[in-house]
Amino acid sequence: LADVVVVGAGNAALCAAIAASEAGASVVALEAAPRREAGGNSAYTAGAMRLAYRSGKDLRPLLDVPDRELALCDFGSYPVRDFVDDVERVTGGRADPELTRLIAREGLATLQWMREHGVQFEPSYGQQAFELEGRWRFWGGLAVRVRGEGKGLVSALEAGATAAGVKILYETRATELLPGRAVRVQTPSGSREVEARSLVLASGGFEANGDWRAKHLGPAWSRAKVRGTRFNTGGGIRMALEAGAAAHGDWEGAHAVQWDRDAPDFGDIAVAHEYTRNSYQFGIMVNSLGRRFADEGADFRNYTYAALGREVLAQPGGVAWQIFDAKVGHLLRREYERGDAAVVEASSLRDLASAMDVDGGALEATVDEFNRSIRADAAFDPAARDGRSTTGLAIPKSNWALPIDQPPFRAFAVCCGITFTFGGLRVDTDARVLDAAGQAIPKLFAAGELVGGIWYGNYAGGTGLTAGSVLGRIAGERAAAVALS
Ligand SMILES: Cc1cc2nc3c(=O)[nH]c(=O)nc-3n(C[C@H](O)[C@H](O)[C@H](O)COP(=O)(O)OP(=O)(O)OC[C@H]3O[C@@H](n4cnc5c(N)ncnc54)[C@H](O)[C@@H]3O)c2cc1C
Repeated sequence: LADVVVVGAGNAALCAAIAASEAGASVVALEAAPRREAGGNSAYTAGAMRLAYRSGKDLRPLLDVPDRELALCDFGSYPVRDFVDDVERVTGGRADPELTRLIAREGLATLQWMREHGVQFEPSYGQQAFELEGRWRFWGGLAVRVRGEGKGLVSALEAGATAAGVKILYETRATELLPGRAVRVQTPSGSREVEARSLVLASGGFEANGDWRAKHLGPAWSRAKVRGTRFNTGGGIRMALEAGAAAHGDWEGAHAVQWDRDAPDFGDIAVAHEYTRNSYQFGIMVNSLGRRFADEGADFRNYTYAALGREVLAQPGGVAWQIFDAKVGHLLRREYERGDAAVVEASSLRDLASAMDVDGGALEATVDEFNRSIRADAAFDPAARDGRSTTGLAIPKSNWALPIDQPPFRAFAVCCGITFTFGGLRVDTDARVLDAAGQAIPKLFAAGELVGGIWYGNYAGGTGLTAGSVLGRIAGERAAAVALS
């Protein structure tokens, strides 16, 4: 018998487990994966965490870097209001306002608490900052990342949880809730019950469940590649629904990005997030007909990338190409230089098209029309929405429009990589799971990607980890309080 049983051992679950243990509860975490594959999607992340702060001074106690290094960083400010506005904007105003405010307000204190439990943070150089005249300028609300990325996060949290007395049971898949008293689990040696005074569900979304994807997102999603763990099949959501929880949020929506066309069907932890192709704002995207299909510069990539996997999926064959010329090569994220990237290169657009197996005339026409439509009156600035846009195109490019005219040209082949699903359970700001009448189900809490109601249609980069940590910590505290009362 444990006071608190946590289902999962990713970021949200481990934060919940540590918080419950700190509050005096005995805690067991149940993890479906074997130890070598544990850590969920959290282990695959770049460790970027969206965080509201007033100025660089707020970040100082969090960052494990020397002052002389920080003196070269322009963090600007990212107040709670901007965090909330960004989430509202990308979700078309549908995000749960109370949960959004909670995550924005509690982020900084929660990361500080994680630091006390061994997680180290550093500025997001390279990914979220461009170096200009010897100084780093940060953009897009993502100034901070975990040192060692997702793997660093999970190993630090596992160590923190173990030090706090949490017992993690691997290869132990929760299959059924026995409300108020236990969870049924499946292990290599059979099925059994684990008794619990209270329960925290933190077992991720259903992105790795092909049937649920086809049913809720649509049949085309069966050909999406899963970016992360194969263990997030929606078990936690299913069990809670069976126990009377309300389904909530955007069940037809998912976070899905442009992903290397030749990546495996499920995530490969050795490569982790490096199949992501997220520098599209510095080039153009075309489909196999050689036509553009989306505004590559609609906003900072943090606010567009999670909706573009769906756009790619809708193209013929579910694939597309990102095209860059030589002058933006230095702006591309380092994963573009991986030796196994699906890329072709040529010194003319004709030859590039032939290597892409795309009609040469069509591609040349697209690039020519694009190049001629660029307004040259705004200066190119990769660290700001520079307003350097096209005019007169049916599909505009709203920022960072540079002509594609300097060989050699490169085209990267992409497909749709699904990250996590948006639909899930309904929780309140105490992380209590609610039923259809809005009543809390006794002794049942939830955190992380199985919580619905925050993301609708789109997502703001780096919020998944912050949301999971904030709500996970709260879930653990409240679950312990209930168990010990
Ligand atoms: C490639 C990639 C890059 C990403 N980069 C970022 C980033 O930089 N910043 C960011 O904020 N977010 C990022 N994300 C999103 C991020 O991964 C999630 O927001 C976050 O990790 C979700 O945490 P979680 O604890 O809810 O789920 P997970 O970390 O996925 O943990 C869920 C755990 O539950 C286990 N589980 C599932 N079912 C059961 C069951 N029935 N019984 C027991 N255990 C079960 C799984 O094995 C898994 O370990 C990225 C995701 C991917 C895939």
